[in-house]
Amino acid sequence: MKLILLGAPGAGKGTQAEILCKELNIPTISTGNILRAAIKNGTPTGLKAKTFMDAGQLVPDEVIIDIITERLAEKDCEKGYILDGVPRTIAQAEALESSGIRFDAVISIEISDESIMERMSGRRVCESCGASYHLVAVPPKAPGVCDSCGGKLVQRKDDTPETVKARLEVYHKETEPLKAFYSQRGLLNSVENQPSVADTTKAILRALGR
Ligand code: AMP
Repeated sequence: MKLILLGAPGAGKGTQAEILCKELNIPTISTGNILRAAIKNGTPTGLKAKTFMDAGQLVPDEVIIDIITERLAEKDCEKGYILDGVPRTIAQAEALESSGIRFDAVISIEISDESIMERMSGRRVCESCGASYHLVAVPPKAPGVCDSCGGKLVQRKDDTPETVKARLEVYHKETEPLKAFYSQRGLLNSVENQPSVADTTKAILRALGR
């Protein structure tokens, strides 16, 4: 199963991807997590990406295409994968297509900009493994500590209200056109965000025919 999760920043792609990868037994590939790890490790890619990310802008396509091509060539991707946060532009989608990858489904999680602005202030991520939480909707068992790895939970620099606004603008301009791209290929399934994480997962699994 090769799956793409589309949706605005904060739509819950990361949270759903973590649940779905256990359910479907395939890895989740998140370019955001790969880039944050590169920044933490001070790699040349991380240094290049940091300014764009802090400003809520997209990292250039050629950087992303290199990262994703390398990651998808790893052994654990043989049985399939869930892409979280990539592709984010038509150029990235075309690059994946021209490398011969055929996706089974594209799920777009639909949620209003107002709800995104509300929910982003409560988001926390693990600085070690990238798992995401929400102070109200998905709280960790112990405050400030990751359930999965015991890492420290922090607020992302790009989750401030001004940056979230910029990221939403970028989403509507650059990423939303991917819905038409994949709809033309008969792959798009739009799923409304549900009041609970579990209900959104159910809606996604239903859209996948499971
Ligand atoms: P995310 O964790 O998916 O919200 O990504 C955080 C930030 O990383 C984005 O706001 C972008 O600056 C950058 N980024 C992640 N994935 C991509 C991508 N596929 N294309 C361009 N920039 C990306």
